[in-house]
Amino acid sequence: MSIFGKSVFGNKATDSIPAPAAGDGAAAPEAAVRKSDDEWRQELTPEEYHVLRQAGTERPYTGEYVDTHTEGVYQCRACGAELFRSNEKFDSHCGWPSFWAPLADGTVRYIHDRTLGMERVEVRCSNCDSHLGHVFAGEGYGTPTDQRYCINSVSLRLVPRDAGESEAAQS
Ligand SMILES: [Zn+2]
Repeated sequence: MSIFGKSVFGNKATDSIPAPAAGDGAAAPEAAVRKSDDEWRQELTPEEYHVLRQAGTERPYTGEYVDTHTEGVYQCRACGAELFRSNEKFDSHCGWPSFWAPLADGTVRYIHDRTLGMERVEVRCSNCDSHLGHVFAGEGYGTPTDQRYCINSVSLRLVPRDAGESEAAQS
């Protein structure tokens, strides 16, 4: 399955994807975490910076979470916001971690992406405006939404369920 599959804009079954914000790559005024380019360069590895802050794409089948089934929450690698859960992760065989829904409404934002001559919907972290990947719809995956949030592993950090709950479980 190619990442460059059906255009979500040419498909009638895409009403459930929120309308992307107008404008191409404009900074999100509502982003809670705002840092300068230099600050991001210092905090992130070169690969993380390229994907998260320059909307790069890791090579397919190379990311650390492509085939991960560990239960847990996927945080934004840049700011730590909780974005996706293992519950919504599925095996798309497209070469990138794939989710059929974000953790909650509002955790990610959507932007029209017309680069590379294609109409796509870019997915960014709502909290820090970092690039995560793209979302596609109507591809025929047998998931509840028939959407595929195609997300770079390097944009995410998995917090396994056991590790995340060990402290909170003390009572
Ligand atoms: Zn973030």
